[in-house]
Amino acid sequence: MKQINLGLGKETNAQAAVKCFPTYVKELPNGHERGRFLALDLGGTNFRVLLIELNDGNFKMESKIFAVPQSIMQGAGHELFDHIAECLSTFAHMQHIEHEVLPLGFTFSFPCSQHGLTEARLTQWTKGFSCSGVEGEDVVKLLEEAIERRGDVKIKVCAVLNDTTGTLMSCAWKNHNTYIGLIIGTGTNACYVERLENVGLWDGDWEEPKQVLINTEWGAFGGGGDLDSVLTEYDRDIDQHSINPGRQLFEKMISGMYLGEVARQLVQKLTKQGLLFGGQGSDALFERGGFFTKYITEVESDAPGDYTNCRMVLEELGIEHATDEDCENLRYVCEVVSRRAAFLVGTGLAVLLNKMDRPSVTVGVDGSVYRYHPHVHRLMCEQISRLVRPGMKFDLMLSEDGSGRGAALVAAVASRTAAT
Ligand code: BGC
Ligand code: MG
Repeated sequence: MKQINLGLGKETNAQAAVKCFPTYVKELPNGHERGRFLALDLGGTNFRVLLIELNDGNFKMESKIFAVPQSIMQGAGHELFDHIAECLSTFAHMQHIEHEVLPLGFTFSFPCSQHGLTEARLTQWTKGFSCSGVEGEDVVKLLEEAIERRGDVKIKVCAVLNDTTGTLMSCAWKNHNTYIGLIIGTGTNACYVERLENVGLWDGDWEEPKQVLINTEWGAFGGGGDLDSVLTEYDRDIDQHSINPGRQLFEKMISGMYLGEVARQLVQKLTKQGLLFGGQGSDALFERGGFFTKYITEVESDAPGDYTNCRMVLEELGIEHATDEDCENLRYVCEVVSRRAAFLVGTGLAVLLNKMDRPSVTVGVDGSVYRYHPHVHRLMCEQISRLVRPGMKFDLMLSEDGSGRGAALVAAVASRTAAT
């Protein structure tokens, strides 16, 4: 709560780890949005291009997933944007819309300081991206320039948004009690609806509604030392070997890009101490990144006392001599890691709920960790209940494709606002 308040304050923002960027999205959807929109979704495991049609509560969508090779994720910025423009052009030709000028919503899921709905300066890369020449730049401009360099498609960027904003909007479209958007996927972050009077940073208009979506960028929490007392040796090791040491510490304890590695380090240590697998590991188990976050989900999806998934995971790791006791212990390690993540996220949500102080709030949630893990939802709810003010009601609702549909909704709401 303290970090969020520091982030919102004009004078204190510079020293805050949690930046609380105003998104310039003020209105929530009313369910009657209309129009045909292109959307780009960059920032998770996949890059997607989408064509979305909204028609009064109905919704149609075509989309295509494109790979972003590691060489591009860590190469030169203009190559990343050339790649995006090329994918967009391929998609537009497939859909036979290359001659239309379609409004486009750009879901760009990295910390950006915005100065309007169509301007977003990347403050720093997260989640394994590190393209040169993009930090400090307006990513909308970089996108438009790349499209111009090709010259074979026309777009009009109506909005740039974070995936948390997309998730909130996409849930709010059907559920008018949605005031928080949350992602627990490759990275983690949350956005929420804040009253303008609490946003010292606000430099936009003061017309009704006097509220704005705040992109907290809570993944950066801990950057100022606030998590030091709870960081383990495994967290510190993961941080030091990451491409952004000292940053995104909360994210590194929670999100899919890191959880598998936290578990692996624990298992590695227990194995080397002779406490697991008779002291015999494997190359994959002893290799950084060798234990995927989806293994945690798989191991914990076994019924208690059943080790079917667990043994499949061990086989993939090249460990064939595990006893039932080893399986039980591996499951325990996975539970410890996922429960900590769920409790940390639940704590963050309780902060936002207490801060907003509404009698009842729906939280729109997306991301692979939340979607596929069998217990994270329940554990989060338990933790939130422990920490919110008595009587406060909340529920967590899985968002269906927030990055795509949310982008269209932000674009639609923006054009509605512009028209009135
Ligand atoms: C980014 C956020 C994003 C989150 C979830 C974080 O690494 O900084 O902007 O919302 O991941 O995708
Ligand atoms: Mg995504």
